[in-house]
Amino acid sequence: MELAGKTAIITGSNSGIGLGVAQELARAGASVVLNSFSDRPEDHELAAELGARHAVPARYIAADMSLGEDCRALIARAGGCDILVNNAGIQHVAPVDEFPVEKWNLILAINLSSAFHTSAAALPGMRARGWGRVINIASAHGLTASPFKSAYIAAKHGMVGLSKTVALETAGQGITCNAICPGYVLTPLVEAQIPDQMKVHGMDRETVIREVMLLRQPSRQFATVEQIGGTVVYLCSPAADQVTGTTISVDGGWTAL
Ligand code: NAD
Repeated sequence: MELAGKTAIITGSNSGIGLGVAQELARAGASVVLNSFSDRPEDHELAAELGARHAVPARYIAADMSLGEDCRALIARAGGCDILVNNAGIQHVAPVDEFPVEKWNLILAINLSSAFHTSAAALPGMRARGWGRVINIASAHGLTASPFKSAYIAAKHGMVGLSKTVALETAGQGITCNAICPGYVLTPLVEAQIPDQMKVHGMDRETVIREVMLLRQPSRQFATVEQIGGTVVYLCSPAADQVTGTTISVDGGWTAL
């Protein structure tokens, strides 16, 4: 198994893309640490089931990615981090002049600042071992904009900039840092946006999916969590040793338009 002996921490991984990434890393043999802010028995059971399915060590560590000290404590409590996948993220849709300040602050904290804190905590260990992967789950919205998503788009553009900076600071040290930019992936986060989008655009569910969400995704197909996980596994492979400081779009052609 290509990633046997490596420990991967995936933030925000009790659902959606994070869970899909954890599955693919476990399938490739990595030990995985799942995370979210909740600390329910089912969170720990999810990790136990995933570990059993792929015969790898798997744990769940609760930590709130909106809090810098929790981000750093997650890395410390995991006891080592070879692969860091910064995935936790939330969304809120409103025009800039009506955007709630507390939502702006929370989105910037979870979707951007958490990656700064976890990276800062993980890099010294990666340097000591001479190998590491920092993979930031940005978005097509890290490269392009849409109306009503100012905080999310600002945070995701920031995530791309952070990835390039960490790549330059770690170049030649056996560590790479990249951002994956998914287009629309049908996960709970996207499901939750559908009612807001229906309200903002005055459309029914099917029309919003076809005419708003997938309008800019030329394939008119959602990407899958397995495809994002597979891209993460590729970035952890020797084939990607010289891939650093860049973005990989998994967006059905969105950013080619
Ligand atoms: P999701 O809502 O299914 O998953 C988000 C995860 O983040 C959950 O596990 C949630 O518990 C966790 N989370 C939220 N707040 C947290 C906090 N304070 N601390 C720790 N964990 C927290 O959403 P998803 O679609 O799987 O999104 C995952 C990432 O992928 C996000 O960063 C999102 O912006 C990005 N993304 C998603 C899409 C898409 O179409 N689904 C597209 C591009 C990028």
